[in-house]
Amino acid sequence: LGDVWEEYARAKINLTLDVLGLREDGYHEVEMIMQTVDLCDRLKFRSRSDEQITIQTNLPYLPVDERNLVYRAAALLRDHCGVKQGVHIDIVKHIPVAAGLAGGSSDAAATLRALNGLWQLGLSVTELTLLGASIGSDVPFCLRGGTALATGRGERIQPLPDALSIWVVLAKPPLSVSTADVYRNYRNELVQRRPDTGRMLHALQLNKTKMIGRELGNVLESVTFAMHPEVARLKRRMLRFGASAALMSGSGPTVFALADREHRARRVYNSLRGYMQSVYLCRFVGRIDEATVCLRTE
Ligand code: ATP
Repeated sequence: LGDVWEEYARAKINLTLDVLGLREDGYHEVEMIMQTVDLCDRLKFRSRSDEQITIQTNLPYLPVDERNLVYRAAALLRDHCGVKQGVHIDIVKHIPVAAGLAGGSSDAAATLRALNGLWQLGLSVTELTLLGASIGSDVPFCLRGGTALATGRGERIQPLPDALSIWVVLAKPPLSVSTADVYRNYRNELVQRRPDTGRMLHALQLNKTKMIGRELGNVLESVTFAMHPEVARLKRRMLRFGASAALMSGSGPTVFALADREHRARRVYNSLRGYMQSVYLCRFVGRIDEATVCLRTE
């Protein structure tokens, strides 16, 4: 193996997101069904002869020091395994930042996968998951992606069979939402419709796009829609343009629409592009093979 490694970091959407309560550690207890889509950042890892971790990225406003989740993932793995080598990481961002798509978490997960290979550490997915959970709640899911049920503060992952490759249109209005603010303002009694996780699991088992669409639900819409009514308007607009179902992802502000046919997805995509910039056409993608995550070199 050479000393350069490349990884894709894929975005996620929430097919369901329910808040079950507040925990003693201050986090909310959640229950969510997560799905990877094929919108991705590209990361390139190059060994350094010294022990430094250096980062460059195409987004000038992203921090390149320990505030970057990629830096944290690399430093954690280096210190945990006593690696005496550094790395230079080039991040090409395509996933919108602070959008509810877990871009930063996915970059961190890609970093754990890549450096496990580049540094020939041979850590198992379980070990990487434990490290990942200390970086962020979404990192364990992002390690393997696909379709999964996430519980706890989101870090406990139960993989589900890969769903069909459903078409998705993502649209991010030009505003940023802080996940912490959204959770802080969450009030159970303001939720109008809760997702039924059991019914979504059943719809996924049958792999029927229309049924999956009917079961979409995210209790955080009650908070973000109240803060930013344009997010609610965007969701209504997607439905008017012919999406079979639409939902806000995570704490927002990205809204996604599902379509069972490519031409329907394209119609929604083209209609939205008329008046907003961040619109993406993508599809569901499956889980990364365990052997690929913890690739051993012997
Ligand atoms: P989630 O859905 O998990 O809440 P998000 O998609 O809303 O995540 P991110 O794009 O992960 O949010 O970024 C949130 C914050 O993390 C930003 O303020 C950003 O500065 C910081 N951050 C740190 N590292 C990264 C990274 N590699 N990519 C994007 N953001 C990063």
